Amino acid sequence: MHPNSDKATEVKSTLRRLGLSPRKALGQHFLVGDDALVDILEAAQIFGKTVVEIGPGLGALTKKLAEHARKVVAVEIDPLLAAALQKELANFENLLVICADARDVEVEDLVGKEYFKLVANLPYYAAMPILRRFLESSHPPTQAVVMCQREVAMAMVAGPGEMSLLSVAIQLYGHPRIVGIVPSSAFYPSPKVTSTIVHIEVYHKPVLEVQDKGEFFALVRGGFAAPRKQLRNSLSYGLNLSVDTSATMLWKADIDSKRRPQTLTLDEWGQLFGIFSESELLHG
Ligand code: SAM
Repeated sequence: MHPNSDKATEVKSTLRRLGLSPRKALGQHFLVGDDALVDILEAAQIFGKTVVEIGPGLGALTKKLAEHARKVVAVEIDPLLAAALQKELANFENLLVICADARDVEVEDLVGKEYFKLVANLPYYAAMPILRRFLESSHPPTQAVVMCQREVAMAMVAGPGEMSLLSVAIQLYGHPRIVGIVPSSAFYPSPKVTSTIVHIEVYHKPVLEVQDKGEFFALVRGGFAAPRKQLRNSLSYGLNLSVDTSATMLWKADIDSKRRPQTLTLDEWGQLFGIFSESELLHG
């Protein structure tokens, strides 16, 4: 028998005992493989640290975190799971379970001013909004080790030539690297996709000095609006400008307007943003 099938049986019987069934809409795929747990813990190095875990679920990862970290704050959106976990792991005095949507928590409400690491087997549907919430916060984690869909992980680590809005959104704040691939058989119920563990070393401050992040991402989103087109056309389409205007902006930023948006480096997005900010074209 596959070792994961024992664990899957255990998860099923825990769910039955609690009177619960996995909620697809909340991305509830529970870990039943030990390899992923080991990889996450090894990458996160949480001994004696404060950790925020998103989506603890039935607590496979939470228990390991609580055994080694100084303090664990676990944020779970499902009130039934949050209550069950609180009860199940009540003997861990260093664990606080909070029932909330991680996409709109105030980070300082969770950990105050303490340095912390973010660890999560993220729900696929909300992986990026959750990560962005934490990276864009005024009190971001020092490191994040997260599991997400493989395609999302590959986009996070992509370099110039294959960049996307998602790559820019992560790499502005930290350096991502792939830690390991996790097959769908490591979860119950098995998802249709393969998962990947990513480690993000978060910078002390974002690599670009951007005053208004909302405007910066409006520009980048506009730039990627038609990713197969040349940048002057994609920008013109995405920001509703004439092609001449977007070509002039690109020329001022010293960027060849025939390039595709995926080829721009983070620095070049910064240069382009500088020109757009001066022109006030992003103010509508
Ligand atoms: N950590 C558990 C494990 O590895 O077995 C469960 C991981 S499961 C992929 C994702 C978990 O995130 C579920 O427990 C789900 O209820 C929770 N979740 C989904 N959306 C959430 C959100 N917006 N905020 C907080 N938790 C969320």
